[in-house]
Amino acid sequence: MKIIDSHSHCYPAQLAAAPRAWAEAQGEPHWAELVAPLDRPSIQGWATIEQTLAAMDAAGVEQTVLLGWYWQNEATCRWQNGVIADWIQAAPERFIGFASIHPGGTAASVIAQCEDALSLGLRGAGELHPGIQNFDSSSIGWQALADWCVAHDWPINLHATEAVGHQHPGSVPTPLNDFLHMAEAHPQLKLILAHWGGGLAFFELNPRLRQALKNVYYDTSATPLLYEPSIFRRLIEIVGAEKILFGSDFPLRVYPRAQKTPDFSTFIETIQNQADLNPDEFAAIMQHNMQRLLGKA
Ligand SMILES: [Zn+2]
Repeated sequence: MKIIDSHSHCYPAQLAAAPRAWAEAQGEPHWAELVAPLDRPSIQGWATIEQTLAAMDAAGVEQTVLLGWYWQNEATCRWQNGVIADWIQAAPERFIGFASIHPGGTAASVIAQCEDALSLGLRGAGELHPGIQNFDSSSIGWQALADWCVAHDWPINLHATEAVGHQHPGSVPTPLNDFLHMAEAHPQLKLILAHWGGGLAFFELNPRLRQALKNVYYDTSATPLLYEPSIFRRLIEIVGAEKILFGSDFPLRVYPRAQKTPDFSTFIETIQNQADLNPDEFAAIMQHNMQRLLGKA
């Protein structure tokens, strides 16, 4: 089977050498705090395009969705989309691109960003972050983005912070109720909530919420940092395997003690050995659900 990773990131090689200086020059303090903190070791890993492809090959990952980052400035979003387009051009069979969009501005600015990303060959939006990018379900920019994405059949990936738990350094809340408002306002929108929706998936035990969230999907990115492997089994029982998308968060080192360099294989092997999935569930989560969201199955 073809494994598709629906949540990874990419940066040009020259950023890895001095990420903090680069981020300060761009006016991106939040990214600098996550990726290059001054007061603790970073779990950010780095991978060139060649290293990314080699890590995909080693793990049997056929395709990876390169997500944009939730940059604080539209200019950085546009820069990121160019980087993603370059990677796709180098390996079009292996990479699928989602666009960095800044929804904090006017409807016209958001639509222009989307049209430009479409012309670069990108096929979705995300990863976006309401708290960092200063928008919510009532923002004009968000509503324009959601309308555009419904019209163009683009999924949107949103970062979701756990609603309950210890505060990670650099973690900024994403209120779960506002994801519900987004889903209710745009029932046709294919909304992907990263990191298991920050716990929103558990609320699908409420049948009314389950109905409202029927077009909401949850990705598994960063699971090893957050949950036990039994989360797969438990959430299949609540939301169904068809709403769960395999995502790694590569090149984040999601096993910080074991991984010196980022890889896809450690997490995939953990899923194979500990998540207790039957072959149909495994195929749905690792491949078919993302293909369906991209309109390919
Ligand atoms: Zn995230």
